[in-house]
Amino acid sequence: MRKGKTFIICGPSGVGKGTVVARLLASDPTLYFSVSATTRPPRAGEENGVHYHFLSREQFEQWIAAGDFLEYAEYVGNLYGTPCRYVDQAMEQGRDVLLDIEIQGAELVHQKRPDTVRIYVAPPSWAELERRLVGRGTEDMEKVRSRLARGREEFAAARNFDYFVINDTVDHAVGELRAIMLAEHCRPCERISLISQ
Ligand code: ADP
Ligand code: 5GP
Repeated sequence: MRKGKTFIICGPSGVGKGTVVARLLASDPTLYFSVSATTRPPRAGEENGVHYHFLSREQFEQWIAAGDFLEYAEYVGNLYGTPCRYVDQAMEQGRDVLLDIEIQGAELVHQKRPDTVRIYVAPPSWAELERRLVGRGTEDMEKVRSRLARGREEFAAARNFDYFVINDTVDHAVGELRAIMLAEHCRPCERISLISQ
């Protein structure tokens, strides 16, 4: 059986990570999206256990102490973390896993699991990023500014990623992401073990 691979989707807040991930999941029910835990309050329409596991800081710290996270990081005043149990289960079932996480978390996962594929999603311009983040209407202007500043800081690390996708149109970005995922399964290290002896 083909082994599952983990793909990390990283990029500045508002670039469209959630949008492209939702499109990938809708078109491939075998894909597994890792639902993170966070201390951030839910936005309108976000459901506990679907978009995030919404935890108090105290609960989050209990999860850390119990060793429940593959990685966790602080992002603009809140904690975010990837629960490890479900990621491992999904990969054992041969499913590809998508992690929508920020850059410190991406680095930690890659250190622990070097076969993880890191994809940076960039906006076509910084002005367009600001339009998207403001247009989403989920953060006040102070938080928008913090998120934009954080996005600019993180951009320096983008060249160390395995792939770089520009989300100009959703169709184009999703097409490139599908191509990357397919190509990663065509590497000799993935394929040779599938040939029957
Ligand atoms: P992220 O998860 O990276 O923070 P979202 O997926 O929430 O970003 O997208 C931010 C906003 O930008 C949303 O309102 C979304 O509808 C919009 N958006 C996403 N991708 C595109 C695109 N290619 N062109 C225009 N708007 C987009
Ligand atoms: P948001 O508050 O917009 O949902 O997410 C803010 C940032 O946190 C985004 O860059 C998102 O990718 C990141 N994030 C979401 N879940 C996790 C996680 O489990 N771990 C880490 N390190 N970052 C996460």
